[in-house]
Amino acid sequence: MSPADEAASILKHFGVQSGGDLASFSPIDGNEIGRVRIGDPARAAEEAAQAFLQWRSVPAPRLGELVRLLGEELRAAKEPLARLVTLESGKIVQEGLGEVQEMIDICDFAVGLSRQLYGLTIASERPNHRMMEQWHPLGPVLVISAFNFPVAVWAWNAALALVCGNPVVWKPSEKTPLTAEAVMALVRRALSKYGGAPDGLLQLVQGGRDVGEALVDDARIALVSGTGSTAMGRAVGPRVAQRFGRVLLELGGNNAMIVCPSADLTLAERAILFSAAGTAGQRCTTLRRLIVHESIADQLVPRLKQLFANVKVGDPREPDTLVGPLIDEGACDAMGRVVGDLIERVDAVPGGFYVRPAIVEAKAQEGTVLKETFAPILYVLRYRTLDEAIALQNEVPQGLSSSIFTTDLREAEQFLSAAGSDCGIANVNIGPSGAEIGGAFGGEKETGGGRESGSDAWRAYMRRQTNTINFGTDLPLAQGIRFDVAP
Ligand code: NAD
Repeated sequence: MSPADEAASILKHFGVQSGGDLASFSPIDGNEIGRVRIGDPARAAEEAAQAFLQWRSVPAPRLGELVRLLGEELRAAKEPLARLVTLESGKIVQEGLGEVQEMIDICDFAVGLSRQLYGLTIASERPNHRMMEQWHPLGPVLVISAFNFPVAVWAWNAALALVCGNPVVWKPSEKTPLTAEAVMALVRRALSKYGGAPDGLLQLVQGGRDVGEALVDDARIALVSGTGSTAMGRAVGPRVAQRFGRVLLELGGNNAMIVCPSADLTLAERAILFSAAGTAGQRCTTLRRLIVHESIADQLVPRLKQLFANVKVGDPREPDTLVGPLIDEGACDAMGRVVGDLIERVDAVPGGFYVRPAIVEAKAQEGTVLKETFAPILYVLRYRTLDEAIALQNEVPQGLSSSIFTTDLREAEQFLSAAGSDCGIANVNIGPSGAEIGGAFGGEKETGGGRESGSDAWRAYMRRQTNTINFGTDLPLAQGIRFDVAP
């Protein structure tokens, strides 16, 4: 079946009508697969602001009930939604299913979290006083998402934002608008089962950069959670700062793996293949720099070249395909500009954007090695000492994910120490990509500094309030200050 026909049948299943000014194209064959209507940012912000007035006062475990219902809808629709993710973003079916599973997982996490939004109690220096911290809902949250995780990123943010008492406005990538429509169909089902949620609680605003900018500038939006390129974050950050709004930025990565002499090379090879070639190199956590000890490089690199040469590049709907297409022609051009003649276009489906993952042995870490090219390019660098390897790993502007393959405890611990990897994510004996939702996800430096998903990332979606309560009959001042009224 053509991607257009398959998309039409899945959209019908979700009850989504195609039509409007924004067209969606499948990277599988380059053809249009549907259309959506451009949204109205000002109206969405106003409706979200109104919804907040009601939602903020609902007890959090009751907010969790809506997220539980949403998780149930996602479970029931896992296959068709994953299939639509494949058609629109080009990722293989296994990865599409994994993406929807992530949505389900974060819903489960948020339901539990809805009973665990803990504050602290704090010892007061004054007699008969008590101090505590409360976490209150923040306000409407804007989620700007990228094409490569067209639905999971929304879920990471929305599930937490909802149980924290906030409405959510979603501006998805203009390259993947249909999957967002399908998710909203599931949202509507969950809302109708829940009953009584305010209008405007969960909204979708389709459009490009201009629509994103209008929402970013809107003072009714309390938090802008932006996932995308560093260029996007560089534009969005100052605009939100200008109005003293809050940002949570999840931007580009340039992730490395250090392979030490003691590494289990069989494990390392598998991890390298998945993290460098998986999702056709279009994950923010994709492995882009392999830093290999000089004593094992001549053993490892030819083996990797062989694996990359044999990996099946093709229609992401076929079960044995491991590498689907790039998102569009522009992505192929960007790869070509970096690797030149090394680019190998694969004629898998006419009109699609297929390339074979490339390995480039770099003499020095400079030029394009310092940048994120959103395509499957793996640079190989050699090292002599672990200090040198860690320095190479850290000497790029981005700071998202990193990993080390070693069976030497000292090397692993040095890599994880304060003087080790400077990334938000640092792994031992697994690759840099494929995070679980239980941990806080995000990175340092040009990756933006945001953390979302698990651990205590929920705090970004709430405002902290410090309370001091006097239950005595006196009014002692802090720091022992005397400020007595003359008798
Ligand atoms: P992109 O920056 O082109 O677009 C991302 C989103 O931002 C889109 O919805 C787009 O419309 C919007 N946008 C762009 N400029 C904007 C502006 N000035 N104001 C408001 N909105 C704006 O990114 P992309 O090509 O869709 O995705 C790939 C990039 O995303 C890569 O750099 C990748 O590393 C990054 N990414 C990061 C993470 C992470 O968690 N760190 C996850 C996924 C993707």
